[in-house]
Amino acid sequence: KSARFSGRVALLTGAAGNIGLACAHRLARSGAAIALLDMNAQALQAAEKAVAAHGVKARSYMCDVTDIAAVRDTVAAVVAEFGAIDFLFNNAGYQGAFAPVQDYPEDDFARVMDINVRGAFHVLRTVSQHMVARKFGRIVNTASMAGVQGPPNMAAYGASKFAIIGLTEVASKDLAPYNIRVNAISPAFMGPGMMWDRQVELQAKVGSQYFSTDPKEVAKQMIGSVPMRRYGSIEEIPGVVEFLLGEDSSYMTGVNLPIAGG
Ligand code: NAD
Repeated sequence: KSARFSGRVALLTGAAGNIGLACAHRLARSGAAIALLDMNAQALQAAEKAVAAHGVKARSYMCDVTDIAAVRDTVAAVVAEFGAIDFLFNNAGYQGAFAPVQDYPEDDFARVMDINVRGAFHVLRTVSQHMVARKFGRIVNTASMAGVQGPPNMAAYGASKFAIIGLTEVASKDLAPYNIRVNAISPAFMGPGMMWDRQVELQAKVGSQYFSTDPKEVAKQMIGSVPMRRYGSIEEIPGVVEFLLGEDSSYMTGVNLPIAGG
């Protein structure tokens, strides 16, 4: 059993979701103690149990990242329970609606920005205060290829993920003096799962010039745009996150790594 991260503590947000949980499993297998943050109580409980089965300490925390007071309380509780936070996987996110910008629902735009940008900032700000004091930290933010090249019909999501890549670059500079590295990952089409099904279905429903109105065709069109001609598996993400948290990437900060099949 590899124990490259034994003695390390990782905090993951969106930890009850597909990508967060897959990464929690990976880091637990590498020996890290795991703090799981999410706002889905039921999924969180199951996630904590599953991660603890690796024989590491695992605790779950119900927290809405849009609520700064809740984030402060949660981070304080994690530090009290685990003694420190070495790794942050800042990953909670929401895909939002699908509509052309002129019709994009205003309240959903606000919600996407609130979760994906303000929420990520709340967690980054709060955890990095702790890391600055310790002069150690490794942070990975979850962006998206939608933050590299804006996809049609995703005004809020695209804007929010461009913001995350910007935030990653700024934070990498602000935190470099404190031995804290901040990088991002950008998954593209990952499947199977809710996000894949949802985007295929909703892009079809919009009926824009970019995609067919038949979800099956949309899936083909999306995969046809990927050089590797397949969607990515969720399991192709945790190794990249582990690389960015670990010392194999010791001279990398402010970088956004696409996980996108080319
Ligand atoms: P998911 O829906 O399975 O997981 C997201 C998790 O975030 C959920 O458990 C949800 O409860 C949690 N969450 C949402 N809002 C929250 C809030 N306000 N406070 C706390 N927790 C909250 O989706 P996923 O695919 O695992 O997505 C994880 C990250 O990856 C997101 O940032 C998403 O934008 C990004 N991403 C996903 C894909 C993909 O295709 N799956 C591609 C690119 C980027």
